[in-house]
Amino acid sequence: MVMTHEFEPKILGFLCNWCCYAGADLAGVSRYQYPPNIRIIRVMCSGRVDPKFIFRAFSNGADGVFIGGCWLDECHYVTNGNYHAVEVIKRSKKLLEQIGLNSERLRLEWVSASEGIRFAEVITNFTKQLKELGPLGVPEGKGLDQIQVDIAAAERAINNKLISYYIDPEKCTACGICARRCPEGAIIGGKDKVHIIVQEKCIACNICFQSCPARFAAIERIEADPVPAPIPEEARTVVRASKGKA
Ligand code: SF4
Ligand code: SF4
Repeated sequence: MVMTHEFEPKILGFLCNWCCYAGADLAGVSRYQYPPNIRIIRVMCSGRVDPKFIFRAFSNGADGVFIGGCWLDECHYVTNGNYHAVEVIKRSKKLLEQIGLNSERLRLEWVSASEGIRFAEVITNFTKQLKELGPLGVPEGKGLDQIQVDIAAAERAINNKLISYYIDPEKCTACGICARRCPEGAIIGGKDKVHIIVQEKCIACNICFQSCPARFAAIERIEADPVPAPIPEEARTVVRASKGKA
């Protein structure tokens, strides 16, 4: 007797703590059935998912990547991270297409904490879709080795395209607001010192960009270009015009 094994896709899921993860939890507690193909990583916000996470998953052989967040305008953070997730997924899908992988292998869905049934349905549907697509690389005519090479090239593109934030030393007044609000401690501050973003620590959450007072507007959002090098320490002192002087 010839045994045929149905292809079981491997799915990596990044679920936002507040909505989709809670929805998945509810699905489990309520015993709603869905395929066991997904392995879940809990993140605090769908906006935390970096394109590198997605491409690392594919590079390691995931057949599909799932991102689950709160419905738009229901993000638990003032920064509306799920809008950021929309941008990240759009860009990642484009890059998948550029390297010849089916962009349907990447899916973003909104699931609230009370939508256990919806979580089960969405995962059932995504698993079915991936089964129809087949294993990563097979319909695309690429082996994992080639996919890894292509993904490395895509990652270089991501590094160039990643949204970055930069403080314009000519505009920064050292008010300190951004440094106090940065959740990652990524801003070097100091009294009367031009503030600097440490790019290696920055998660591009956008908080500093929103919090720099409009009258200063010292923080720039950079989408495609490299970030300028930080100014040297000796040039960081903010020169203030003295009162009464012309
Ligand atoms: S974007 Fe976010 S993490 Fe980066 S420096 Fe600004 S506040 Fe900090
Ligand atoms: S909030 Fe703006 S002006 Fe104030 S320290 Fe940060 S970058 Fe400079």
